[in-house]
Amino acid sequence: MQSSDQRLNLQERSHPCVVWFRKDLRLDDNRCLKAAYERSKGRIIPVYVLDPRDYETNLLAWPKCGAYRAQFLLEALSDLRMKFKRLGSDLVVRIGPPEEILPTLADKHGATHLYTLDPQDHEEAQKVTAVSEACYREGIEFVEIEGSTLYDYSRIPFAEGEIPKDFVSFRKELERDASPKPPELAIKKVLPLPMGLRAGNLPKLSSMNLSDFTPDPRSTIPFLGGEAHGLKRLKDYVWERKLLPYSYSARHGLGGEQISTKLSAWINLGCLSPRRIWYEVLAYEAKYGGSQGVYQMIYHLTMRDFMIFHAKQMGDSLFDLKGLKEIPKVWEEDSERFALWWQGYSGFPLIDAFMRELNSTGYISPRGRQLVAAFFVKQLKLPWTWAASCFETLLIDYHPAITWGAMQSVAGVGVELPSQSVHPIESGYAVDWEGAYVRYWVPELANLSSDFIYQPYHLTEEYQAHFGILLGQNYPYPVVEPPPPSEREPTPRERHHELIMERLKRFGKI
Ligand SMILES: Cc1cc2nc3c(=O)[nH]c(=O)nc-3n(C[C@H](O)[C@H](O)[C@H](O)COP(=O)(O)OP(=O)(O)OC[C@H]3O[C@@H](n4cnc5c(N)ncnc54)[C@H](O)[C@@H]3O)c2cc1C
Repeated sequence: MQSSDQRLNLQERSHPCVVWFRKDLRLDDNRCLKAAYERSKGRIIPVYVLDPRDYETNLLAWPKCGAYRAQFLLEALSDLRMKFKRLGSDLVVRIGPPEEILPTLADKHGATHLYTLDPQDHEEAQKVTAVSEACYREGIEFVEIEGSTLYDYSRIPFAEGEIPKDFVSFRKELERDASPKPPELAIKKVLPLPMGLRAGNLPKLSSMNLSDFTPDPRSTIPFLGGEAHGLKRLKDYVWERKLLPYSYSARHGLGGEQISTKLSAWINLGCLSPRRIWYEVLAYEAKYGGSQGVYQMIYHLTMRDFMIFHAKQMGDSLFDLKGLKEIPKVWEEDSERFALWWQGYSGFPLIDAFMRELNSTGYISPRGRQLVAAFFVKQLKLPWTWAASCFETLLIDYHPAITWGAMQSVAGVGVELPSQSVHPIESGYAVDWEGAYVRYWVPELANLSSDFIYQPYHLTEEYQAHFGILLGQNYPYPVVEPPPPSEREPTPRERHHELIMERLKRFGKI
């Protein structure tokens, strides 16, 4: 440990600053890096600490972070390291508790300040507090910089603890009274790491108690971690293929590459800055004109902010079954039903298709998430925290504030978000009449007539055999009673479908 005199001498000479990278694994629009760079005149020590506690098990006794997200992180770290090497430095990587590693490292290499990004949920906030306290004990100044959201928390027009509970009011007030700050350009050069500071090896999946896997070729896009891949996907979606205007009508689609940007995994790990996306969207609008699809991108980034700001406000109760309610709702703790849901064997083809895609790739569409979540609480009546924990493990783009906040909302114990029809049969017919998405992910139903693709349980045994399925043998019976049709007027297509069903019933086929 250095004496304060020694530290003062070092400060006068060099002032290195540690930048603790967490969920800002990029150079572009990285305010933390920029602030540390300016203070230290380029003498920064970029560090990533893999905390083994993040790879322990969760409420389901599953790994908190599954292999898809972990692999994405390793790729992002490798990309960041390469970028620092090109700038003449390196990314220091360590494994262990950050509150032990960081102050020691800073002290040993004469750093006076430690910079990091603001935390985005309660668990992260606890970790950041532990590091800031440890820094304080060592006499190292701890600096927290805002930067993970589109709007800055410190500049939103709501007092602490007074963010509206519904997204619509939040968005309207925010758009009227605040605006995001433009993104900042990446730094171009840094000084080499201090002499004697070993960069350390990048961790492997095994360091996170996970096994190697081969990515599923059916994934909508290859999810490759790192700033370079995130920027490439952004450029491709916005500028090269000009998909933004199209994404408004397409967003209700069940799956597929074009229906939404698929940027979430890069955004949540900070490989992409939300302000950079916003800026590109505005530039697109300036060049080609606005549209609902263009605005939708900003709308959803604002929704992301809403979830993060709410999570800050909620603290630990984000993870509480009771949510925002005074009296807890009663849920049925049926582990068999839960297993059929997450494995994709519920007997509801649309839900099974989504859950199988999620298990195989780590990603499902916005519509898919709403449908499986609503099915979980409304039809299966299972505790919503189980679904949130399952998403925690499986999602490649998992964000605690969004998953837990969205699950609370679907369960009716959280904030109010815009809702859509979540009928597990009608929602399929509404956008994919032929059932192409189900046929893709549930191959045992591939030959089924479109009339039954979302409800094979209507078929008699004879008719099942005709389509190559046998319920209870190669595809399950529904795990719960199918929900009744919703009360709205049927569409002409649905009416046509009803007529076919009536005729089949008359001929004893169903
Ligand atoms: C139960 C449930 C769990 C979810 N869990 C997550 C999660 O862990 N991480 C996550 O990023 N999103 C989550 N979402 C929100 C949304 O489904 C995903 O952001 C979206 O599917 C990501 O795909 P995309 O990037 O193509 O989205 P796009 O439609 O292209 O949207 C662009 C960006 O806006 C943000 N965004 C979009 N929809 C939402 C939303 N409803 N709430 C907050 N931000 C949004 C995301 O950052 C997204 O990348 C969840 C939704 C539900 C219903």
